[in-house]
Amino acid sequence: MKYVDEYRDPQIAAAIAERVARKVTRPWVLMEVCGGQTHTLMRYGIDELLPKQIELVHGPGCPVCVTPLELVDRAIRIASLDGVIFTSYGDMLRVPGSQADLFEAKAQGADVRIVYSPLDAVKIARQNPDRRVVFFAVGFETTAPANAMAVWQVKREGLTNFSMIVAHVLVPPAMRLILESPQNRVQGFIGPGHVCTVMGFEEYEVLAKEFHVPIVVGGFEPLDLLEAIGMLVAQLEEGRAEVENQYSRSVSYQGNVPAQQVMREVFEVSDRKWRGIGSIEASGFRLREEYAAFDAELVFGLEDLHAEEPKECISALVLQGLKKPMDCPAFGVRCTPTMPLGAPMVSTEGACAAYYQYRRHA
Ligand code: SF4
Repeated sequence: MKYVDEYRDPQIAAAIAERVARKVTRPWVLMEVCGGQTHTLMRYGIDELLPKQIELVHGPGCPVCVTPLELVDRAIRIASLDGVIFTSYGDMLRVPGSQADLFEAKAQGADVRIVYSPLDAVKIARQNPDRRVVFFAVGFETTAPANAMAVWQVKREGLTNFSMIVAHVLVPPAMRLILESPQNRVQGFIGPGHVCTVMGFEEYEVLAKEFHVPIVVGGFEPLDLLEAIGMLVAQLEEGRAEVENQYSRSVSYQGNVPAQQVMREVFEVSDRKWRGIGSIEASGFRLREEYAAFDAELVFGLEDLHAEEPKECISALVLQGLKKPMDCPAFGVRCTPTMPLGAPMVSTEGACAAYYQYRRHA
C-alpha cells in the first residue's frame, strides 16, 4: 500500500539502526511525545533494534490518558440525565472515572453512543430535536479544528440541543513542564507529527532554543521513527539543538492555516488540568464566550467534583517519562485492558496498553 509499505521495510530499518549505532558514542534519553508513536515503537520492536545507549521514554501525547478523572465523572453524570444522548469516541467509554466508566453508565440505561466524528453527533442532534445531545471533545490540537467546525456549524444552523464537553489539551506546554522538572531525563524529543500537521512547528523552536533540546517532528511508521531517532542522535552527538522535520510529507512550517483559523474562531487558550499531573498554565482550549451556549459544563451546571486517582496508578510518572509501564506494580496484575486502573491501559494511544498488547510483560 502506497505510503505504508515503503515505510515498513525491515532491511531499510536495519540499515538505519546500524547507522544510529555507528553514530552514537554515549547514552541518550529520547521521548516520543505522541501515544500513536509509542504503539508503533512497541509493535515493531524498534526499542530493541536500537543500540543499547538509546533509551526511549514515553510522553504525554495520549489525550484520553490525560483527561481528568473529575471530567470523566462529570461526563457520566451528564450522560445519566433524562433526555440526554451522550456521544463520544469509543476509547473514552472504557476510561475509568472514580466509580464507573461510560460503558457502565450505558449498561445502567444511559443513552451513550459511539461516534466517529463530531459531525456525527451534530447529525444526531438534528434527528432528535426533543433530546439534548452532548459530545465529549477529547484530543490535542489534531482534533480541535473538526470539533471547532462542529460548534461553528451548530451555531450557524441555530441548533439549540447540542453541546460539547471540551477537554482539549495542547502539546508544547506539556513539553515545557517536562523540561522544567528537576527530575527531567529527556534529552531529545520526537515531535508529534499529527499535531504539527495542523499547527506547524514554529512554536517548538522556542522550546528547542530555551532548553537547548533537539526536537525532530516525526511520523508514525517504523521508518519514520527510526529516521527521526537518527536525526536526534546526530544533533545530540554534534551538540546541536534545532527543530527538524522528518515528517515533511505531511508537516509544513506553518501547518494548516485555515484549520488553525476555525479553531481560534471557536476556542481560546485556557489553563487546564491534566490527569495525575495537575493544572498546566495555558495548556488547553475552552469555548469562547460567543460559543458559551454550547459548553455542556455550563449548560448542565454541574457542581465542581473532586476525585482521587487510584493510589497505585503511576500514570503521571509514565506520561512524563520518569517511569516505564512495567515499573508499575499493578501492571498486568491488577491493571489489564479488561480491568484497567488507569487510562493509559485503556486508550489505543496509552503506553501501558502498548506494553501490554505487545507482550513486553512476558
Ligand atoms: S499499568 Fe495501570 S495502574 Fe499502572 S500506570 Fe499503567 S494504567 Fe496506571
